[in-house]
Amino acid sequence: MKAIAPGATLGILGGGQLGRMIASAAARLGLKVHVFNDTPASPAFALADVTTCAPFTDEAALTAFAGSVDIATYEFENVPREAAALVAGLVPLRPGVGALATTQDRLAEKRFVADLGITTAPFRPVDDAAGLDAALAAIGMPAILKTRRFGYDGKGQAAIRSADDAPTALAAMKGAPAILEGFVDFACELSVVAARSADGSFAAYDICENTHEDHILALTRVPAAVSAETAQRAREIAHAIADALDYVGVFAVELFLTRDASGAEALVVNEIAPRVHNSGHWTDHGAQTSQFEQHVRAVCGWPLGPAGRHGVVEMRNLIGDAVRDWQAHLADPAAYLTLYGKDETRPGRKMGHVTFLRGKG
Ligand code: AMP
Repeated sequence: MKAIAPGATLGILGGGQLGRMIASAAARLGLKVHVFNDTPASPAFALADVTTCAPFTDEAALTAFAGSVDIATYEFENVPREAAALVAGLVPLRPGVGALATTQDRLAEKRFVADLGITTAPFRPVDDAAGLDAALAAIGMPAILKTRRFGYDGKGQAAIRSADDAPTALAAMKGAPAILEGFVDFACELSVVAARSADGSFAAYDICENTHEDHILALTRVPAAVSAETAQRAREIAHAIADALDYVGVFAVELFLTRDASGAEALVVNEIAPRVHNSGHWTDHGAQTSQFEQHVRAVCGWPLGPAGRHGVVEMRNLIGDAVRDWQAHLADPAAYLTLYGKDETRPGRKMGHVTFLRGKG
């Protein structure tokens, strides 16, 4: 691969707020940015030098995009594999198609993690009513039925607490291939946000503790209130996953922390996000190198930056009408506000986030 230098063009597949923040970091390091997305109202378009608005099935548009960039990346895991493969055939795509294919299918992802000897919730594939019966017999209840693909923020999921719930849960999958997962009785949810370079170097941020409201990330606190051994084990899990995927770029591993009666902690992997992650937004002001710059560095083959943290950090998502408080956040000297430039405020829509630096820790 030819060396990428400032002045080169980074292509981004996907145009949401993650792409917008990657574009901003890339511009700061002197790169040009070309964003490809299928919706005109894409937050990343406003910060790009060049934009293409076309469906991910438009081969001519994808080919022209690949021809206009020096290196490409993606900012969401639902970029169709065929589109990613087309681009990867023409220009280096980082992370690669393999990482995308493994992580965009919950079944492939769980099998991959389990094959590494890392604990996941018990799981079984489910394609029909008979498959669901068999899976429930194997796993027991409570359990969660999830679509294998295209689920996020709790969409495409249905809880099964008793046998009566099974038909409704299956109907909620709308015929899509699904996976049944045993319910993990977790003490809290954690994530590791980390980066890996093509030469294998690895840098993880401190472990994040995440609180969800209505299945959407509401709050991230760093450092997580876990033992030093658990934090170290979480980093090791992320490192093993990144090496096995031959991953290049920033990614996140979402984990459940369980505690038994004696207080002993254990980690269960929930999912892998092959991209910068909402629980890493705090790094923008709360760490030495933001996850967005770190991603650009990794993708371009540049040295990773230091991942140290500036004290105790809290990141709150501004969801729906919460964005109306923007002036109060601007007036708070501990708060750093980021807005995504979305025209329309809707309930459940991520409009921005605010990071609070709470001093030493
Ligand atoms: P996911 O889309 O898989 O990240 O799931 C969204 C949220 O649902 C998670 O952050 C958890 O709060 C909850 N959840 C998902 N899977 C499980 C599970 N197997 N056991 C308990 N809670 C779960």
